Amino acid sequence: MTNNQAVVRSHDKLFIGGRWVDPATSSRIDVVSPMTEEKIATVPEAGSVDIDRAVDAARAAFDSGAWTTLSRKDRVAALNRVADEIEARLPEMISTFSSEVGAPLAVSEAFHAMAVQFWRRNAQLLQSYDFEDRRRWDQSAGTVVREPVGVVGAIIPWNGPVANASLKLSAALAAGCSVVVKPAREGPVSTFLLAEALAAAGLPEGLVSILPGDRPVGAHLVDHRGVDKVSFTGSTAAGKKIMQSCAARVARVTLELGGKSAAIITDDAVFEDVLPSLIPASVGHSGQVCAAVTRVLAPRSRYTEFVDVLGAALRGLRVGDPFAPDTILGPLVSERQRTRVENYIGIGREEGARVVTGGGRPQGMERGWFIEPTLFADVDNSMRIAREEIFGPVVVAIPYTDIEEAVAIANDSEYGLSGAVYSGDHEVGQKIARRIRTGQIFVNSAGLCLTEPFGGYKQSGLGREGGVEGIGAFLETKLIVENA
Ligand code: NAD
Repeated sequence: MTNNQAVVRSHDKLFIGGRWVDPATSSRIDVVSPMTEEKIATVPEAGSVDIDRAVDAARAAFDSGAWTTLSRKDRVAALNRVADEIEARLPEMISTFSSEVGAPLAVSEAFHAMAVQFWRRNAQLLQSYDFEDRRRWDQSAGTVVREPVGVVGAIIPWNGPVANASLKLSAALAAGCSVVVKPAREGPVSTFLLAEALAAAGLPEGLVSILPGDRPVGAHLVDHRGVDKVSFTGSTAAGKKIMQSCAARVARVTLELGGKSAAIITDDAVFEDVLPSLIPASVGHSGQVCAAVTRVLAPRSRYTEFVDVLGAALRGLRVGDPFAPDTILGPLVSERQRTRVENYIGIGREEGARVVTGGGRPQGMERGWFIEPTLFADVDNSMRIAREEIFGPVVVAIPYTDIEEAVAIANDSEYGLSGAVYSGDHEVGQKIARRIRTGQIFVNSAGLCLTEPFGGYKQSGLGREGGVEGIGAFLETKLIVENA
């Protein structure tokens, strides 16, 4: 196997309020390659004192109006400058992310292209966003004003940190907020490169901080009285705790959580047309994507045929070095994550599901946290492998008898984040899509759309990111009444 591991830069300072400063403690994060299992870099780990400094800086920036009193034209230009600065750093960001998280280069490229797109999209939306409107009712009149919510604490996971931070930052800044971002302990280095881009873009002092750290540091940010709104992306378990913490002071909260999304394949679908989008949407980034389509619902009449076709396609995916051009799946992010996925594969076997392909570590790859793309057939929707988020390249194929049953199975989930319908008849596909209780659903394709509203039904989350709704998530509504 080749190993084109790129150089990953270590860092010594933390990005607080737009400046590079010494961390409050000597605590550091060792970054370990998921491919070689060797330490490849080290960065400072933020502590509670660093969070306090960042929140103070964000509060001062917000209260001073240094950002909100800039003209709209200047704020739009600033958001576009961030996009330019990210673009200028794309090669290093992409290779750093592939090195520290194990994402194949194509996945890394796609995530970072999205990051640029979020800044450009929110700059464009800011240009014409309606921050107020006049209203008349009965004998009265007034103005509805949409104001920035204040200081935002943004907590993000490791699976696409530059894109995730950019999604939150670009929308929050477009709304007029200041932001403290807390990336995960895993894969933190690319967020230092994002901080460099933000520094180069010349935003007002105090406006943005990026402080990677562990869960207690995240909890400190959530509990901080100086934080008006928490925007969280991560597991449903953590989201529930965060929502409880926010309740104590009625802090505003948006939650982007886990998923167990379903794809319904109707009996007239052409399987070969389904695979090009279904495969990346289900096991791309080794299934470490919240919106991964991991339950595939196939008609009983063509179930065997479909399982054979899908199994063969998954078996053919190349697992290996993230830097090799033909690699489709890299390693999982950590040993802990691989153990979790292997546990689930064991649970699936015990539950009586049949392994069609995969189910273990790829042969001949002793180093690196690799796992084969795995397909389970003969799965019942009540099995744990059909109900719980695995966050690995594990797909379950569930048979259904008619569309009523397919819709019922798709909706029989605690989650509701994404999904897909593949049908030979577009109208039928549209009708089925409307019946699925999920925040986003694709007809005759599958994937992730984050420039327009994205978020979960049920335990997949609360609120939306992306599009005008994404900016709205960082605004408060005030009514100024005249002539009451
Ligand atoms: P995680 O919830 O363990 O951690 C995510 C982030 O939250 C990390 O920065 C972590 O340090 C922090 N955190 C964890 N517990 C916290 C707490 N109690 N208080 C404050 N901060 C806390 O998730 P993970 O394992 O890193 O990521 C995988 C999960 O994220 C999956 O469930 C996946 O579905 C979800 N995810 C959701 C989306 C989405 O947009 N819906 C996107 C990506 C990932």
